[in-house]
This record gives sequence, structure tokens and C-alpha cells, in this order.
Amino acid sequence: MKNSVYLKDVVTLQLDDNKCTGCGMCVDVCPHEVFKMNGKHITIQNRDSCMECGACSLNCPASAIFVESGVGCAAAVINSMLGREGECCCGTDTKGGCCS
Ligand code: SF4
Ligand code: SF4
Repeated sequence: MKNSVYLKDVVTLQLDDNKCTGCGMCVDVCPHEVFKMNGKHITIQNRDSCMECGACSLNCPASAIFVESGVGCAAAVINSMLGREGECCCGTDTKGGCCS
């Protein structure tokens, strides 16, 4: 899963190097290993593997990451994991699984 690539060059993920403190939180929370520690700085190594789940942005203490999250199946999968009900992009009720 970590090397999955979705559509190329459409990911909204943006990193503000000037705000980043190099804490490494985004590396820890990203399920697809999109980020890599490069010394004391973060770099985006697998941009096209980002599924726009928003975990990095939500957990970044420096607000250095922007990503448009909350759309499509990534949001549905997360909602399902949290036990929330809602529409999935494939039309399946997310309770009990989405796109599986
Ligand atoms: S979580 Fe934010 S501040 Fe920490 S390394 Fe990642 S981008 Fe930088
Ligand atoms: S939005 Fe999710 S998949 Fe994309 S870089 Fe952030 S944590 Fe990783």
C-alpha cells in the first residue's frame, strides 16, 4: 500500500518549508510514506502516493502542510474506520467497509 500511486500530478499536498520545524510527526502519521526526513527537514518523496487523508495536516503542530482532504474514498475509508456512517464515492454505505 505504501508504494501505491493514484493519479499523477493531481495531489493538492503542499509543504511550507519556512514553517516546518522538522518534528517528524507527518512521517509518523502518513500511511503511505509520502514524507522523508532529510537531516532536520522534511521532503516530499512520494507525492503521487498521497491519498489526501489529511492526517499530516491535522497533526502538524506548525501548520506547515496543506492538503484538500475530506473528499472521495479516502474520506470514506477513514469515516468507516472511525465507525461513522456516510456516503462512499462508489455508492456503498461505508459502515462495514468501502471499496473493499
Ligand atoms: S509535522 Fe509539520 S512541522 Fe513536523 S516535520 Fe512534518 S511538516 Fe514539519
Ligand atoms: S494526506 Fe495522508 S496520505 Fe497524503 S501525505 Fe498526508 S498523511 Fe500522507
